[in-house]
Amino acid sequence: SLLMPILLLAQQSTPIYKNKKAPIEKRIDDLLKRMTLEEKILQTNQWTYGKNANENNIESIQKGVRAEIGSLIYRSISPVYRNQIMRKAMEESRLGIPILMGFDVIHGYRTVYPIPLAQACSWNTDLVTKACAVAAKESRLSGVDWTFAPMVDVARDPRWGRVAEGFGEDPYANSVFCVASVNGYQGKNLSDPFSIAACLKHYIGYSLSEGGRDYHSSDVSAQTLWETFMPPFHAGVKAGAATLMSAFNDISGVPASANHYTLTEILKERWKHDGFVVSDWGSVENLIAQGFAKDRKESGLKSFLSGVEMDMVDNVYVENLAQLVQEKKIPESKIDDAVRRILRLKFRLGLFDNPYVQELSEKDRYYQPESMAVAQQMAEESMVLLKNNNQTLPFSNDIKQIALIGPMVKDSINMMGSWEGQGVATAVETIFEGFSKEFSGKATINYAKGSEFDGTDESGFAAAVQMSQKSDVVVLCMGEMKKWSGENTSRSSIGLPAIQHKLLAELKKTGKKIILVLSNGRPVELGDMESLSDAILEIWQPGIAGGTPLAGLVSGRLNPSGKLAITFPLVTGQIPIYYSMRQPARPKIGGYKDVSNEPKYWFGHGLSYTNFSYGTVKLSSNTINKKSKLVAEVEVTNTGTRTGKEIAFWYISDPVASITRPMKELKYFEKLELKAGEKKTFKFEIDPERDLSFPDSNGMMRLESGDFYVTINDQRLKFELTE
Ligand code: BGC
Repeated sequence: SLLMPILLLAQQSTPIYKNKKAPIEKRIDDLLKRMTLEEKILQTNQWTYGKNANENNIESIQKGVRAEIGSLIYRSISPVYRNQIMRKAMEESRLGIPILMGFDVIHGYRTVYPIPLAQACSWNTDLVTKACAVAAKESRLSGVDWTFAPMVDVARDPRWGRVAEGFGEDPYANSVFCVASVNGYQGKNLSDPFSIAACLKHYIGYSLSEGGRDYHSSDVSAQTLWETFMPPFHAGVKAGAATLMSAFNDISGVPASANHYTLTEILKERWKHDGFVVSDWGSVENLIAQGFAKDRKESGLKSFLSGVEMDMVDNVYVENLAQLVQEKKIPESKIDDAVRRILRLKFRLGLFDNPYVQELSEKDRYYQPESMAVAQQMAEESMVLLKNNNQTLPFSNDIKQIALIGPMVKDSINMMGSWEGQGVATAVETIFEGFSKEFSGKATINYAKGSEFDGTDESGFAAAVQMSQKSDVVVLCMGEMKKWSGENTSRSSIGLPAIQHKLLAELKKTGKKIILVLSNGRPVELGDMESLSDAILEIWQPGIAGGTPLAGLVSGRLNPSGKLAITFPLVTGQIPIYYSMRQPARPKIGGYKDVSNEPKYWFGHGLSYTNFSYGTVKLSSNTINKKSKLVAEVEVTNTGTRTGKEIAFWYISDPVASITRPMKELKYFEKLELKAGEKKTFKFEIDPERDLSFPDSNGMMRLESGDFYVTINDQRLKFELTE
């Protein structure tokens, strides 16, 4: 027929890889066949135009970026730049392969949320998903396709500053919030207009850097690797996380960025992850410093063969892979596999078909009312009331004069925490602004800064004392500056500077009640601050909208509901200290002789203005077999006079097993709102395979019959697992 030649012609002119309707794997097959070795290797390269490039000069950016690179760490703030760079890739490269724009969107892009550690203290997974979805939308509208988040390194050492970036000390909590974040960033489908790709990091063992020293090596036993560090990554992979980042540290002698076992045998072969791994900034070349490669070429060889598909900013792959292929040290099929994985994400994101983003004004991109509402709610729910002697909080109506003291009161930037979003946020609400609104017409705010965060200057003390003397109560706001936590901010002691202790002690002398408001990115060692304060409210680094929720909690308009996702040690020397430690051999007599073996505040601690009373826990049976399920439930009553949210934590203990087990492990949690007088039932369905099994040192799960305990609050009930 006449149609045949026309169809043939059409087929020839539109390559399969450009055909939207063709299956993704077919499109990749077709594209790979057309690519030269050099073009393939360029896909494994992640470039950055660096701090010195003029980011506002699109020409200089365009000059630097090769049209064929796989990915760009994209620092620009405008969709216009993205589209210009992308146009270069689409129009000036031979095959028109889009560039993947990656960026660290850690707790919001412009609408900055509380730091991840704070988010975990909300125990509100839906809210985390919503926050990540907002971050994804703002990112996408700004030209970002891929975030280097979530960080799911289980935090066991708060000297390590990056505990701020993750979800605390518990593997289950990290897993649940990992999934919540991936769902928020990636949405239902990566090709949705406002989805971005997630990147689980840092795979793996990074948070165990010896002594909490950032970038140092980790000594992670195989058992701990599987029990503690792998679960969140596995959960994220199962939830469809598009990528992972390989860590800086080495793990018992093998660097994480050249670790064939974790990157290939586990991730790709056992877990069947079909996305790709990007190295951390410089972690390929770092193999030389670590003593694992003699030069850049060998570091590239080792990283690539272990399963790191993309090289972040080192240019080691671009410079060496072709030669390594020629020397037959790397099979070309392995290059194809790496490129296939990278292209797969670009196709899944729809970048081939829709490479450009809308060019909206800033006002239409950021700070939408719904997004700000999420930021406020997250700040509210993540704040933790640590101490409240004689109901110091909330304020009664007799409080007419509030002394609002401290270096954090009028600060905006330190409230944001590390990775504070793209560009300097202009819309941060300070504590001062929050209090002024909240107490307008009800109480007078008497402000004095008192001191800086650190140093020896006490010249501000007098004014602070004077303000306190004329007030009914003192609200003292201090803690860590943002640069004291986050990447490369390790501290040998997690206490606060002497000047802060001194200021507090000085104000205490006025005899007024003191509410200590702490803003920090890690647990801090409180020392005498604890006994000197009548109430302590941990607000973390609450982000852009922290002022109003804080003031609302203080006034009593809101009720605190956050609970700690990480233990506060009594002294730095107790580290590591976490709730799921193993049973000691001589529990009654072992431990420290100079300090208590108890931390200041355990994981899970957090007070409310109301009281929740737990009824007797009921089990559906005292025995179960491996194929059945057991239901544990408890009725909780709000016996106070106001609405509150209670978080119930369900733990499992396995007292005797073939591998010793942690004393208890969190397996489920639920947060419910109860009105005054209201009763609700918290319920946990125990699934033996999911909740009673544990990994061996190769990640194989064991489910062993015998006695178990389920614990909630202070009740501990025994049941038996039979074959
Ligand atoms: C950090 C990563 C981050 C990367 C890119 C590295 O130094 O360790 O967490 O994603 O830089 O900015």
